Amino acid sequence: MLDKMGREIDYLRISITDRCNLRCIYCMPEDGIPDIQHTDILSYEEIVRIVRQAAELGIRHLRVTGGEPMARRGCLDLIRMLHAVPGIETISMTTNGLLLDGRVREACDAGLTAVNLSLDALDPELYRRMTRGGDVTKVMRVLRDAAACGLSVKINAVPVRGLNEQELPGLAELARNSGVSVRFIELMPLGCGADLQPVPTEEIRERMEACFGTMQEDTKRRGYGPAYYLRPEGFKGSIGFISPLSHEFCGQCNRVRLTSDGQLKLCLNHSAGVDLRTLLRGGVEDAQLKEVLRTAIERKPERHGFHESVADRENRRMNEIGG
Ligand code: SAM
Ligand code: SF4
Repeated sequence: MLDKMGREIDYLRISITDRCNLRCIYCMPEDGIPDIQHTDILSYEEIVRIVRQAAELGIRHLRVTGGEPMARRGCLDLIRMLHAVPGIETISMTTNGLLLDGRVREACDAGLTAVNLSLDALDPELYRRMTRGGDVTKVMRVLRDAAACGLSVKINAVPVRGLNEQELPGLAELARNSGVSVRFIELMPLGCGADLQPVPTEEIRERMEACFGTMQEDTKRRGYGPAYYLRPEGFKGSIGFISPLSHEFCGQCNRVRLTSDGQLKLCLNHSAGVDLRTLLRGGVEDAQLKEVLRTAIERKPERHGFHESVADRENRRMNEIGG
């Protein structure tokens, strides 16, 4: 469906938990987050009910995220349930990959079509330090298995000044011999990310050109998001850049978000949303639910406004929003 700015909204990101098996330094505090009551989180049946109505309004692409989606029990059962919703064309997952180790085939069979693996360093020690405990060899196994199963695979890396800058060419190399896209995401000043320094996209692009030579623009559509892609000579895959700060992409925004506690969130940097959980638990009918979704999506904010003062600026961390 179209919002009031004429943007086609066909993509829903669903966060199914705030919890995570890792504590990445730009995302989660070291000592974790307060536990949300299990009953405060939408059940899988409630999520599917929302998705059914959203699909009737034109949502075609889903992303399951978190926290760490695989840290919630039965995540692959949810994928199976979402796969059965009429109108849904693709289901992807954003994951740190660790809990997918050994389960990639099962995920494909459940209906997963794509996976975005978060990977900020190949060096095992630095990876462990940035994630506060992760084992990069598991992520590499999941990467191999996902490609072997025919999943569309993207790698998401967040460059952080003074931390993983030296890792960036090595990460980009993962796109050389396979169709994997490696995307560099500009660090956003949300939650724990506000205390660290981003590396601007232009600078990363220049470094990539210094390592790999001139890069051709790659216009093949690789997903439903705001990345732009460049392909160095001799590479099978591409290098992507997502720069919410230096290249605002609000004009092409196609997405809304559902938080694990059932808030429909209309923009990354705005806290205003609709409390779908209260509606669902208050006995809302499907037709009413669809109308609430339609009205909310229509009034999606024009822009994220990271550089401006935003009256309802988002205070939640990325693990609560889902990235
Ligand atoms: N746990 C899963 C993962 O790491 O892929 C899914 C949730 S995580 C919040 C989604 C994405 O958000 C990850 O790729 C992570 O690197 C990114 N992220 C977290 N905090 C961020 C920040 N402050 N700025 C930019 N990206 C961030
Ligand atoms: Fe967990 Fe993902 Fe946040 Fe890392 S980025 S702490 S893996 S939710």
